[in-house]
Amino acid sequence: MSAPTDRPAAANFVSDLVVADNAQGTFGGRVQTRFPPEPNGYLHIGHAKAITVDFELAREFGGQCKLRFDDTNPDTEDTTYADAIVDDVAWLGYTVDEPVYTSDYFEQLFRWAEMFIEQGLAYVDEQDGETISAQRGGYGNPGVESPHRDRPSEESLDLFRRMRDGEFADGSKVLRAKIDMQHENMQLRDPVMYRIRSGHHHRTGEAWKVYPTYDWAHGQSDAIEGVTHSLCTLEFDSHRPLYDWYLDQLARMGELPFEQPRQTEFARLELTHTVTSKRKLLQLVEQGLVDGWDDPRMPTLRGLRKRGYPAESIREFCSFIGVSRTNSRNEIELLESFVRTRLNRVAQRRMAVLRPLEVVIDNWPVDDSGAPVVEQVELVNNPENADDGTRTAPFSGRFWIEQDDFMAEPPPKYYRLTPGREVRLRGAFFVTCVGFDSDDDGNVERVHVTYDPETRGGNAPDGRKVKSTMHWVSADHAVDISVALYERLFSAEVPGEATGDVFDDLDANSRELLTECKAEPSLADVAPGDVVQFERLGYFAHDADQPRLFHRTVGLRDEWANIQKRKG
Ligand code: ATP
Ligand code: MG
Repeated sequence: MSAPTDRPAAANFVSDLVVADNAQGTFGGRVQTRFPPEPNGYLHIGHAKAITVDFELAREFGGQCKLRFDDTNPDTEDTTYADAIVDDVAWLGYTVDEPVYTSDYFEQLFRWAEMFIEQGLAYVDEQDGETISAQRGGYGNPGVESPHRDRPSEESLDLFRRMRDGEFADGSKVLRAKIDMQHENMQLRDPVMYRIRSGHHHRTGEAWKVYPTYDWAHGQSDAIEGVTHSLCTLEFDSHRPLYDWYLDQLARMGELPFEQPRQTEFARLELTHTVTSKRKLLQLVEQGLVDGWDDPRMPTLRGLRKRGYPAESIREFCSFIGVSRTNSRNEIELLESFVRTRLNRVAQRRMAVLRPLEVVIDNWPVDDSGAPVVEQVELVNNPENADDGTRTAPFSGRFWIEQDDFMAEPPPKYYRLTPGREVRLRGAFFVTCVGFDSDDDGNVERVHVTYDPETRGGNAPDGRKVKSTMHWVSADHAVDISVALYERLFSAEVPGEATGDVFDDLDANSRELLTECKAEPSLADVAPGDVVQFERLGYFAHDADQPRLFHRTVGLRDEWANIQKRKG
């Protein structure tokens, strides 16, 4: 099986574009990008793609990438979100010196809007939003010009300034660009540049009563900062002519401090079994369907981090899938296989039993005081990394195994513990099942074994083989832990595909909390947030806040390899 990291990464057409730009001397060989989230929610795995595209492009060409908060809507934005975004971008591995804010440019944007009005390129419309959008028409439907479209510039300028001063109610007036109400691209049918909002802005407070729209703010912010390559997702494709139109006007007026920036769109990241819409994620949180933005089942960076995903493996995944202009949905198993490959290299092995069944060694020795002898067995911390060394674990006359590692009446090809069968206990001894106790209902309560003292360390001097090596935890030394197991939050590959509502595919039982798990004593030393491999069970992340709670990051089996095989 080849690790996904051994495979060549997919193409990145944006890199190719920069190479071409540099060859022609466009932008004077400069590369400047920005990652522009709106601080109205937490970042998710889709944003991780945009972040890597923006930051890696700048790095590849020795340029710069800024984190810019696109904070143009006071009603939904909050400093809490902004702070979390800075933190998440840093966690993903990218340095943000000083974030910048669209709100820092409100004054400049306002002045440019005034110039547009003065030059007959914008006007104040007093119709309501519904009327304006009805008049926009549609494909094959002509647009209808607003009765205010040809009002004198002085009148618009006066109204616009009074809008800023808070004289008018929310929604009562807008500033519109005067472009072409019959344009085949709806975006150019006199788009709105400013709307009135009386809400409290997270940075400018009550200072502004008018706020720029995304389209008016975005390209102009790029221009102010000296962005060269303004990368965004494909749904902005139809906005590009408007992006260019605004900048063309400013360029003509001699207002641009740098080369005119250029927008380029790339495909969104979509994953199977995953929803990456901020609005839907917010609904999950608000309706209490998950434990919060950082629930380990959430595709947010906070959730993935809590789940134990290494930031590196998210970056490796993003680079592997590449950057193209074709929308597609990647398999979540592919992302998981990057996570598994990295964790296999870095995560130390430990033994834990999730659903414990007691085993007693009938021939285990006792010391002079009659207490069972305690042996220390040596265990390898990570077979993939000799530098991680070894540790010891106590072994004595009573230990825990998984309930499903014993069967009183096994089916064919069951090689684990069963009456008469000998198995290896990892790093300890060979034991042979000699019987079991059951309760009145026939449930197995306890298993009896004998051990072979000659097999210390887990090998028989006579060379005899066993078919199974099992993990175990000494009963007298175990630490109690809780473990959260996770299934897909959305059971369907494409959530909502069948009914149109993603919530119909939500698996309410996607978390199973096991509170009576047993682990070897050294588990008490695993640092909060660290990920270890529980032998035979998967990778588990120690909760950062709640001691002795472990989240299963991923299982051990590479399901992506299986999917690839199935698909031939
Ligand atoms: P919304 O517009 O619903 O608030 P958004 O996902 O567009 O949500 P933004 O904060 O505007 O959120 O996104 C910041 C940047 O991340 C944008 O450039 C956007 O194109 C990009 N982005 C968002 N979702 C994805 C995704 N699934 N794949 C790739 N890039 C994405
Ligand atoms: Mg957006």
